[in-house]
Amino acid sequence: MKYIGAHVSASGGVKNAPKNAKAIGANAFALFTKNQRQWKAAPLTSENIAAFQSNCAETFSPNQILAHDSYLINLGHPETDSLEKSRTAFLDEMQRCKQLGLDRLNFHPGSHLKKRTETNCLSTIAESINITLEKTSGVTAVIENTAGQGTNMGYTFEQLAEIIEQIDDKTRIGICIDTCHTFTSGYDLRTEAACKNTFDQFEQIVGFNYLMGMHLNDSKKELATRVDRHHSLGKGFIGLDCFRYIMADPRFNDMPLILETTDPTLWSDEIKLLRTFETD
Ligand SMILES: [Zn+2]
Ligand SMILES: [Zn+2]
Repeated sequence: MKYIGAHVSASGGVKNAPKNAKAIGANAFALFTKNQRQWKAAPLTSENIAAFQSNCAETFSPNQILAHDSYLINLGHPETDSLEKSRTAFLDEMQRCKQLGLDRLNFHPGSHLKKRTETNCLSTIAESINITLEKTSGVTAVIENTAGQGTNMGYTFEQLAEIIEQIDDKTRIGICIDTCHTFTSGYDLRTEAACKNTFDQFEQIVGFNYLMGMHLNDSKKELATRVDRHHSLGKGFIGLDCFRYIMADPRFNDMPLILETTDPTLWSDEIKLLRTFETD
């Protein structure tokens, strides 16, 4: 079964995210469980949690929901104070997921800020994840591959594999592949053959057993530009063949497939379009 949705607004409270997802005909969604541009947020109340769960009931199970953490968090930060701040915020994000009954939290691995080597940064990211997994239960940390913009890590499958390699509890680490990031970091997705080659590499280097979600985005930037600019499906440099490929491949079943495309007014049509590519 393919679960398709978008990163919907949770403005007015997390309970609104499942409502917003239903309104666009989605059977999956992504959300921020707090304001993504602020460090601190009020704790979730039992009312917040109950309303969220009742709005999800019968339509959305945990494997159809992908929470996304705050953009401020950098689990590979080269400076102690900032690293601590990020780790504290990340722990809070994991705990919020647990409270909501969610089983996975999607996050960008981190950045070295030109103050340390890439290898060093990857180890700090893994250490941050290990510390957080130790203090939590029931929620899997889902690393998103990046475009490699600036000093962001996680832009090659080898880097993702290197982080996983250093995780103590491999049952609670996962990967989210963003098609735009994959393409601009240098993996071609423009044709069926290109998709086969790219996902074969993913299988060999990381493994589909770790895949727990996808971000379905076209790209405003060309292959290997290492710039992160999403576009609506079929309007960017990737084109529709990639999304046809994903929708016809059972390896992408039973996980949230999330649009983060730039025009929310198109989401409902994009979901309908993706459904026409389904083969089972
Ligand atoms: Zn993404
Ligand atoms: Zn992006």
